[in-house]
Amino acid sequence: MASFSIGIESVSPSAPSFTTLRVAEPELTTANSLSASTTALPTPSYRLPGDLRPEHYTLEMKTFLDGENSRFEGRVLIKVNCEKDTSRVVLHSTDLLLNTDKVRVGDKEITGHEFDTQNEFYIIKLKEALKSGSKYVIEIPFEGNLTTSLKGYYRSSYQDKATGDKKWVATTQFEAIDARRAFPCFDEPAMKAVFQVNMIRRKGFTSISNMPLAKSVQLEDDWFRDEYVESVRMSTYLVAFVVSDFAHLESNPGNTTFRVWARQDAIEQARYSLEIGPKILDFFEEYFNVPYPLPKMDMIALPDFSAGAMENWGLVTYRETAMLYEEGVSDLNAKERVTSVVAHELAHQWFGNLVTMKWWDDIWLNEGFASYVQGLGTDHLIVLIIGYLVLRMLNYFLGEETFRRGVGRYLKTHKYGNAVQDALWASFEEQSRDDSARDSSRKEAPRDATVKEIMDSWTLQTGYPVIHVMRNYEAGTAELTQSRFVTDWLGRSSDDRESLWWVPISYTDPSNALLDMSTKPRFWMNTSNATLAGLPKKDQWLLLNVNATALYRINYDAENWDLLATALRTEKNHGGIPTLNRVQIIDDAFSLAKAGLLEYNLALNLLRYLRLEKEYFPWRAAFKNLEYLSRMTQRGGGFGPFRKFVRTLLTPVYNALDEPFKPSVAVDTIPQMKLRAKVLDWSCSYGVSDCEEKAVALFKTWQKQSEDPDVVNPIPVELRGLVYCKAVESGGEPAWDFVWKRFLGSNVAAEKSKLLSALGCAREMWLLHRFLDMSLNETSGIRKQDVTRVFDLVATSSRGFYIAKEFLFSRIKDIHSYVSPDFSQVGDYIEGVSRLMSTKNDLEQIKQFVELNSEYLNDAKYAVKQAKENVELNVQWHSRYYPTVIQWFSSFASKESSTSPDGRPHGTMGSIALVLVLFTASFACGQEIVSAASEPLSTSTAASVESDLSTANSLAASTTASPVAASNATSYRLPENLRPEHYTLEIKTFLEEDNFRFEGRTLIRVICAEDTSKVVLHSRGLNLTTDDVNVTDNATGHNLQIAGHEIDAENSFYIIHLSEELKSGHKYIIDIPYTGALTTNLAGFYRSSYKDKATGTTKWMGVTQFEPVDARRAFPCFDEPAMKAVFQVNMIRRKGFTSISNMPLAKSVQLEDDWFRDEYVESVRMSTYLVAFVVSDFAYLESTPGNTTFRVWARPDAIAQASYSLDIAPKVLDFFEDYFNVPYPLPKMDMIAVPDFSSGAMENWGLVTYRETAMLHEEGVSPASSKESVTRVVAHELAHQWFGNLVTMKWWDDIWLNEGFATYVAALGTSHAQPTWNSLEDQMTESLLTVFSVDSLQSSHSVSNNIKNANEIWQLFDAISYSKGAIILRMMNHFLGEGTFRRGVNRYLKAHQFNNAAQDALWACLEEQAQLDSAKDPENKSAAPGRATVKEIMDSWTLQTGYPVIHVMRNYEAGTAELTQNRFVTDWLGRSSDESLWWVPISYTDPKNALLDISTKPRFWMSTSNATLTDLPKEDQWLLLNVNATALYRINYDLKNWELLSTALRTEKNHGGIPGLNRAQLIDDALDLARAGLLEYSSALNLLRYLRQEREYLPWRAAFSNLAYFTRMTRRGAGFGPFRNFMRTLLTPIYEELDEPLRARTADDTLPQTKHRSQILSWSCTMGVSDCEARATALFKTWQEQSEDPDVVNPIPVDLRGVVYCAAVKSGGQPTWDFVWKRFLGSNVGAEKGKLLSALGCAKEMWLLHRYLDMSLNETTGIRKQDALSVFYSVARSSSGFYVAREFLFTRIKDIHAFFKPKFNRIGRFVGAICESMNTEYDLNQIKSFIDLNAEYLRDSKLQVKQALENVQLNAQWHSQHHKTVTEWLSSHANEQYFA
Ligand SMILES: [Zn+2]
Repeated sequence: MASFSIGIESVSPSAPSFTTLRVAEPELTTANSLSASTTALPTPSYRLPGDLRPEHYTLEMKTFLDGENSRFEGRVLIKVNCEKDTSRVVLHSTDLLLNTDKVRVGDKEITGHEFDTQNEFYIIKLKEALKSGSKYVIEIPFEGNLTTSLKGYYRSSYQDKATGDKKWVATTQFEAIDARRAFPCFDEPAMKAVFQVNMIRRKGFTSISNMPLAKSVQLEDDWFRDEYVESVRMSTYLVAFVVSDFAHLESNPGNTTFRVWARQDAIEQARYSLEIGPKILDFFEEYFNVPYPLPKMDMIALPDFSAGAMENWGLVTYRETAMLYEEGVSDLNAKERVTSVVAHELAHQWFGNLVTMKWWDDIWLNEGFASYVQGLGTDHLIVLIIGYLVLRMLNYFLGEETFRRGVGRYLKTHKYGNAVQDALWASFEEQSRDDSARDSSRKEAPRDATVKEIMDSWTLQTGYPVIHVMRNYEAGTAELTQSRFVTDWLGRSSDDRESLWWVPISYTDPSNALLDMSTKPRFWMNTSNATLAGLPKKDQWLLLNVNATALYRINYDAENWDLLATALRTEKNHGGIPTLNRVQIIDDAFSLAKAGLLEYNLALNLLRYLRLEKEYFPWRAAFKNLEYLSRMTQRGGGFGPFRKFVRTLLTPVYNALDEPFKPSVAVDTIPQMKLRAKVLDWSCSYGVSDCEEKAVALFKTWQKQSEDPDVVNPIPVELRGLVYCKAVESGGEPAWDFVWKRFLGSNVAAEKSKLLSALGCAREMWLLHRFLDMSLNETSGIRKQDVTRVFDLVATSSRGFYIAKEFLFSRIKDIHSYVSPDFSQVGDYIEGVSRLMSTKNDLEQIKQFVELNSEYLNDAKYAVKQAKENVELNVQWHSRYYPTVIQWFSSFASKESSTSPDGRPHGTMGSIALVLVLFTASFACGQEIVSAASEPLSTSTAASVESDLSTANSLAASTTASPVAASNATSYRLPENLRPEHYTLEIKTFLEEDNFRFEGRTLIRVICAEDTSKVVLHSRGLNLTTDDVNVTDNATGHNLQIAGHEIDAENSFYIIHLSEELKSGHKYIIDIPYTGALTTNLAGFYRSSYKDKATGTTKWMGVTQFEPVDARRAFPCFDEPAMKAVFQVNMIRRKGFTSISNMPLAKSVQLEDDWFRDEYVESVRMSTYLVAFVVSDFAYLESTPGNTTFRVWARPDAIAQASYSLDIAPKVLDFFEDYFNVPYPLPKMDMIAVPDFSSGAMENWGLVTYRETAMLHEEGVSPASSKESVTRVVAHELAHQWFGNLVTMKWWDDIWLNEGFATYVAALGTSHAQPTWNSLEDQMTESLLTVFSVDSLQSSHSVSNNIKNANEIWQLFDAISYSKGAIILRMMNHFLGEGTFRRGVNRYLKAHQFNNAAQDALWACLEEQAQLDSAKDPENKSAAPGRATVKEIMDSWTLQTGYPVIHVMRNYEAGTAELTQNRFVTDWLGRSSDESLWWVPISYTDPKNALLDISTKPRFWMSTSNATLTDLPKEDQWLLLNVNATALYRINYDLKNWELLSTALRTEKNHGGIPGLNRAQLIDDALDLARAGLLEYSSALNLLRYLRQEREYLPWRAAFSNLAYFTRMTRRGAGFGPFRNFMRTLLTPIYEELDEPLRARTADDTLPQTKHRSQILSWSCTMGVSDCEARATALFKTWQEQSEDPDVVNPIPVDLRGVVYCAAVKSGGQPTWDFVWKRFLGSNVGAEKGKLLSALGCAKEMWLLHRYLDMSLNETTGIRKQDALSVFYSVARSSSGFYVAREFLFTRIKDIHAFFKPKFNRIGRFVGAICESMNTEYDLNQIKSFIDLNAEYLRDSKLQVKQALENVQLNAQWHSQHHKTVTEWLSSHANEQYFA
């Protein structure tokens, strides 16, 4: 049997694992010796007992070919010879139904039947024993099914081209142990017998078998019996028969009749085999000197065949690609392949068939020999079997003649029998002796060992040797040592050190090389050491193993390696080093480097000579090794330099191709042709010159031609593989579909195979998903025989790897059952996916996978073991060599210029040339060994995590550190016995390289409310100078005695223990001097920096960020919001810097040297978290339009960008003074744009800090949307000056009051400042959509939330606080009415100003106001019927989690509707019994009212679970609740009302009068109700179709946020195709309506219009609508290619830059990426930088994404820490980036955690971003185990993580419940253009 891996074709081996001889084994520790030693053991139980031996079989098979019901009936008569008395007949039978009633054993009485399924035995028990020496006939009738298992007697099929009918074929595949699946037999190779076969078949079919037909008899009806001549004596595994309607060709050139069989449509393609078959057979007859023993030879090409071919005696079966060849369609590779496979199978007719191994442990004799002689027969050897190399070595040392005669001797001695390897050695030994005796001139090299001794050292030991050569250049000698070569040199076992081989040593040097190329060994080395003498002088190289005829590696000393490298590179003709040795040098150097025996630099250096190499074979060896490097680098940033290096190597040889894509001409040799194909393949993949462009253009000529592409194909056949691949890669779905159609249409197997390969090149992830799905379904058109191949194709590409891994891991069960019964194929999957695995995480994953799925891996144990080892080796490689190798590539690529040497590939290579290539191909394949001692990867990150704790509160000497465990729930809160009144804070700031720190002193005046001897306050990360701490009585000046200091790190407490008590009513001054570090952690007092454009220097600043709990990082304080006090701040700063703080500067005093003290006015009473100070060299702009002085601060380079804020802020402040009716309490307002800032902005009183993008705006560079966000953020922060600063929540659990209020009134403020923006509607829609989505999780939380510890505070700064807070305040505004609401708020602010309040205080004020207003004006609408108190209503919204859905069931007759309310949760089925009820303000309208009255006032309050509406419109009119979506509830209507609404939306003018906000809600409700299972998806999607008529911004926006969910759910599978098509139909009308899609905004465009255009374009480009992407990339190119400086002139309209950049980066590869990256570094505008940064995540090349994520954790790259999360989002949101991002998070969580210290809660967002897209059970398990394993890093993100996890659960639920329905619906509606 031939199991090949040739060229691009890789055929899976199908032999059972115990006979599998993988070529790569020898380097692995798991490898076995060639000849396994099972024979030495007692007969194992799985072997037949041996008491009966078969002599003769008569086998009759009746074949029923009826599609799925195909089956056979058979009867076998076996004449056996009894060699030992026995009362049991034991033979093999599997999966056959035996008719035991009719079983006969001679005339013996049968007492029972037994089946031993384990050993596949059928046992017949007899009453009396069979007698030794007697013969018996065993008769067994049986039947079986013809399955598609590709084993035993199975069925195959093909489609008849003419009729389109499916035709069926029955055929056999028995090796090694599947004859027993076709008929009961003694199924061991040594149980040889004679076979007489009768095939009963229907008319219209032909049968064939091993022997010629004797006669054919017609039976009843259409049935015939074909009787065959008796066979020679043979093994069961060589029996074969086929029933088919195939055609055949015949020829009789000599004694043997040759016939070739194939499908009728393909029979012409068999002509080549018919031509070469007889020639090859002739050659072998002569070579072996034994005639072919049968009168005929049939060869048949089968459509489904698991191996490459099978050597059944006289009837060889082939996979189509291995036998069929069509001139002009198949390429020369295919011709070569056919030739070598035919030769291999014909060689087996002697080696294997005539003489068979005794048992499978000597299978190598069959395979090795067949491979070896096949080479002789074809001139081109292609084998992957080590036995071949060993035999070849034998040939070399015995000499050709002796070898040949020895073989003949062996065959004659053992013909029709079986033999073990010793018999072969004996034949050679005898022959050698005879020949030497006869001919004294015979030149066999001197050897003092027998053939057996020598060969045993090669066949019984595992592996092969490496010879270490250490030259003594003075003495002209060299010491040789030998040991076993293993890649895992350190981890090799001691056995390996002791293995010794008989190594034939030959060598040469520069002077001999040109004269004497003798490959004869100069001596035999069988010891561990030897010495060579008489070697050349110092400057001349030494080369061992001339022409690489023997199987060993050589490791020279470094000097000799250098000499070789120089010879290769500089001298003519490579210094005379033969081609085969160049091959060996390349492969040795890399293998030795991998094993740690040679410096990688040296190996890489050697490779540089390739720029001069013109021959195929050295290139091939190089490609093989480069491929390994490519696998090891492509999942990281290292791929860039590597690719550059490869390009440099390839460019000269590429350029030397006169016309790269021309068809080959007759004079081209196969190696020339192959070199061209290979060089082009690599050149195109590595971006050399115009290679890819040319390939794609060539493909297009095919696609666009007018001829039928299935008939006419202009692409040269030998280049098709690579052209197809490149076209599919860049062509997306259309190219894929085109190739797929050709695949289905092609009739030529070799062509089909190329097309199939190309399909794996797709770049779009979903296409790969779909491809893999299709591979497990034969109806798709992919044959089962190709299943592992498809997987392999996908798994070995950098992006397919992730998909393949996921596919294998999540679908192992399906795969297992699909490949049944050849379960060993599961091993091929594992092997395929292991190749790119190189991280510890990969290793863990594969181990875990193997552990969890052992039941499916039983038949693949060996492959699994090897795969694990390979991954371990890759991991080892990565940690040991990756940095060196990448560094080398980087420096090489920057040095080497690409000079192009002339000359073209030349020279043919004889058969021998291939040997080493095989050698190299066989032994590397990326397979290596495990090191026990692998201890890689830096531990620095661990250290840096720890350091947070160790430096957290380092105290001076006198500390008594004893952390106190938190014992009760409130222990993290400060005791209330001391209250601060006044702080004097002095801070000296050092902003110098290597000296970023501050010195501080805090004096706190506290009032004692209760006697205590402890002062407990907050301090974190500060070095307190405890020796100088004082506690003084304010009145008396008495210094209290301090007993000790304590740090409670858990709660960030600093505790001063006093010897005397502080007395209630007294005031004390606490004086604490301290120092702190100015780090870049974005918390407390930290440092930020920017680069000065003019000088290029880095400028530093110090800035604060305290909310919520980081004031304690800047100064010791009572850091709780209710601990308000007055602050007097003094900032000591150097000359050249300015300081600012909350209050105006009082005075500035010069101190010594350059130092100044800036003293600030005392503040109003305020919370610690609002204190702020900044030291910087920033510039500012100032204006004082009213009572308040405004200043805006920014880097000097960016100060002009601050003028918009300066313009808008006073207007907004005015609005709020007016709205709240409370003046702004401070005399000034500073706003500063900080280059590094963790959130958007911070409302510090009087000194608001901003991220640059949130405050700076440059007209013409920043887009309109950025102007909007600046306005919003400014308004938000200014609103906080009242809500939050003036009145502060008592504790953080009411943070929503701050944030919700600021969010709500910011929208009012923005509307006021920019009336055309429609900001209120816009922002409320945004908030509503967010809340609808987030708050529908079971794991959501209530608005007002109990906090259990300080870590949880962070987590409340989420959508619930901001958005839900805002929404319910707006709802309140609507039900109370604007006037009452405003007056109530004013009442609240006045009552609690400079103080703290809880939410109840606000409700009370509003209730009082409402009652006052009602009393004053009875008409006041705030008293909607049935209203409860404000507190009752609002408690239902703030204290309960979630929001309601109102179910509406109309009674159309009665004009009524029943309403019910429940909490809406997406997980409707799994919802807990939630009996929450809300006070829901119900408003509603209908078609008639809609146009007149769209009052949002509630018509009544629903607080119960049921209610009834009456007086509703008639049957054909819709009902709509929640007018203008002012309240927070979803509505689920009855089906009819949904349809009425859908129709209204779609057909009527102006959408039937349904307001825009309601259209948005209807979309969102419908889709989310469907998701929760409360509405049919078909109804929801049906509603969505109206979008073709929708032109407004908000409804589209609602749609997009839902459609983004569909994108995430479908893009990891075949569903994305239909979804995308559906999106195209929705988007096309509106896209086409855009007059000029990419035009700039005009003065007439409103902000919503501008945003709308941008979102439509963004989706259109992503979904491939019309020419969107082409236009975008063209526009980008004008920027790239203009003559102006791109940092100055940018022709892309500002509002569309995000869309355009992303589209360009997506399609542009590294050059575009680098261009955008440069612009990012160069840009001075935050908004622009943000766009560029986000676009960089659009890249499609995986390594760019890997590199990008790596860069994000390293601030020196230019990416600020504040932006790391945006980078992650930008990567995670794309379909290919998702995989990269997930891996990044999973493997680098520790680094991420350390990087964000101390803002650990950021990590929750990383998890959230990934979980969004996870949607399978497998994902769920993965994320769960990730969370379990990394709990320590996720501690501060528990809530987010919980929500993220619930999202994955929901997604998985969705996927299993809805994915299919939705995809089907989408498929059926994808192409509709118009709606009825
Ligand atoms: Zn805020």
